[in-house]
Formats: sequence, C-alpha cells, structure tokens
Amino acid sequence: MNSNSIQRFAVMRKLLFIAVISLVGLSACNTSPKEASYIVQVSLGGWNHADYPVERIISRLDSVSNLIPVEKVIIGWTLDKQLYRTLGDHLHSKGIDMLLWFPVFAETEDICDNSVAVDLWGQTPANYDLAAGEGFRFNCPSDPANASRLVDFYDREFSDCGFDGIFLDRIRTQSFVGGVSGILSCGCPICEERFFSQGVKLEDVRKEWESKGDAFFSVSGYSPKEGFVFTNPIASDFFMAKGHIVSSSVATIADSFRARGLEVGMDLYAPFMAPFVGQDYGVLSLHADFIKPMLYRKTNAPAGMGFEYDLLRKAIPGAEGYPDFKMDKDFLDSQLKAMDKYPCAKYPGIEINYREGVVPTSPEYVTESLDAVMDHRFEGAVLSWNIMEAPDTHIACLGKR
Ligand SMILES: [Zn+2]
Repeated sequence: MNSNSIQRFAVMRKLLFIAVISLVGLSACNTSPKEASYIVQVSLGGWNHADYPVERIISRLDSVSNLIPVEKVIIGWTLDKQLYRTLGDHLHSKGIDMLLWFPVFAETEDICDNSVAVDLWGQTPANYDLAAGEGFRFNCPSDPANASRLVDFYDREFSDCGFDGIFLDRIRTQSFVGGVSGILSCGCPICEERFFSQGVKLEDVRKEWESKGDAFFSVSGYSPKEGFVFTNPIASDFFMAKGHIVSSSVATIADSFRARGLEVGMDLYAPFMAPFVGQDYGVLSLHADFIKPMLYRKTNAPAGMGFEYDLLRKAIPGAEGYPDFKMDKDFLDSQLKAMDKYPCAKYPGIEINYREGVVPTSPEYVTESLDAVMDHRFEGAVLSWNIMEAPDTHIACLGKR
C-alpha cells in the first residue's frame, strides 16, 4: 500500500465509524421515551360570564408553565373579547398557542337559533338531569343552517381576538345519558334523507328496534381494531351511516375554520363508545390537526368511560355480548391502540381535576395515564378539564417524570 492508499483507507475507516455511531445514536433516539407536550384547558363558564379575571388566568398559567411545558391553551367560551386579546398577547410572547373552546351541537341555544335534534319517533331525547345542569339539548347535525349560523357567530364574536385555533366540543349526538332515544337520533326529515342516501331507511330501524328491543343492540364481541360488532345487520348499518353523517357535518364545519387559518382540535368520546354518538374517527381525523379522545377512567359523570358504559348497560339490559370492562391500565392501552392508525396528532384527554366521590384522581393515576400515552408514542396529552381548579400535585408529578 502506498501512502495515498493508506490515507484513503484511514478516511474510509473514519467515515464508516461515523456512520455506525450515527446509526446507533439514531436507533437509541427512536427507542427513548418521547417528551410529552401538554395542552391545558381553562373553563370560563357559560357565554355571559367569565369565572376568572384575566390577571388570575395569566398568573395561573405562568405557574403551571413553571411545572410543565405548556404548548397550547384551550379556553372558552365567554363573550369577552378583551379577556382573550390580553391573554393571547401574553401567551404568544411565551410561544404558546391559544385555542377557542367552542361547543358545536349543544349549548348553543343562547347564542344561535338552531333546529333541535329529535329521536326516531320525532321526540326530543330525554336529558340526563337538566335541573342539575348536567344535560344538554342537542341540535340537528345535518341542518346546514345550524352550521352556517355557528361559523357566522365565530366570525362576529371571535375572529378578532387573536386565536390560533379552535377546539370543537359537543361534536356528536346525545349519548346514553339520554337513554336509547338519544342514541337513536337524529330522525328529522333532513337526517332521514341523508340516512336514505347511505342505504338506511329510518323507518326500518324504528320497526326493528320496536320488535327486537334490547337485542337490537347485541354485539358479538369487542376488539380495539373493530370495536363492537353488531349482530343485527340493520343496527350495524344504522351506526355506520350515523357515524358518517354526523362526522361529515363536523368535517365541513372544521374545514370552514381551517380555511380561516385556524388549527382545529376535536373533543371525542373514547373509541369504544364513539360509534354510538356518531363519531367516526376515520372521517374526523382527516379534518383535525389534533384529536383529544376523552380517556377518563375515574370520572363518575358524563364522558367518563366507565360512567357512559354503565349507562349503556342499564339502558339495554337485554342486549348480549357487552363484556365487563375494568377501567384499568389494560383498558386504557386498548383505547390507545384503537386510535393508533389515525393520521392526525393525538393528545388524549386525561382528567387531572379532583372531586371527592366524583373524580377521585391522584398523582399516581395521572402519571400512570400519561406514561401509557407516551408509551404509544403519541404527541402528548390534554390535561382536563379546568387547569384553574386542578391540584398542583397532579401537575407537578408530570414535570418529574
Ligand atoms: Zn336531523
């Protein structure tokens, strides 16, 4: 070997060494746990009154940011432009996005004239406990006037407030909170026509339910990949069409907001319950920047996974095939697995608020939930549902992971 060859050999060996080291580094990087990003929610109360002055919100968010890295704040939905403008300026100076928390198919009766959803018998589904403020009246998901009034309302009240995005809540029909009739909705003439164009005659669905009763809802089993498999073909077609109809309407509304330059987040039921309320993850995830499936294992109130599932089993005690689900880590994993395949960013909702007897969370519970989310290599989590009232211990534990 002459000196030139020796030099070339040395250079090649060096390059090979660098390549091997880079590959090792890269694979180590791929297996190391991802850093979680956090989205927090500030619940201001209803349309007419903010529960907190902006100074208190700013100081709370600053102290939370000292514990964990906050990426976005979801806030709503009082009509107070100045509050949002002041908060937006502050958040933007820290590189944090501000999203409007915006209800779509419920809780809009005070601000918009919307047509109401009805069940297959033309009746308004019963509410959970309207007197206790725990029920919602739902609007028809198909009426185009409902959608356009909502978008106009956004343009009028919120478009000049400095929002980077919008978080769409109540993008569904009534759940089992309203009994079976809430699930068998919406049966208005506009929806009836949309079902018909999907090959489903609502009159047949109505007759099938009336003759079969609870057995209409029987399933052959559950898997994260397929969800519940209905044994009755009419029920199966109904829920398939319902998911498509409700979710396509949400997609149109989401696209209107995206056309305005807003990022769009969506509040979703956990995958196993989503088909009952018309949430088709396949449709929705194509029109969202991120989804927030509510994976509340401790919440003994609407949207809590165990709570909603208990309501299902109480509403249709004669239906077969519904397994006992324990709200443990394995069940959480099954729900994370079920959403794995969808293309948008995923920030599952974990409840960090605490209320004795209703939401008995703990730092251990919060950490266990976040670890499961990050083991699935998702982007992060939404800390639900009101950072203003959440115990510091339930936030600080995340920063120490
Ligand atoms: Zn309708």
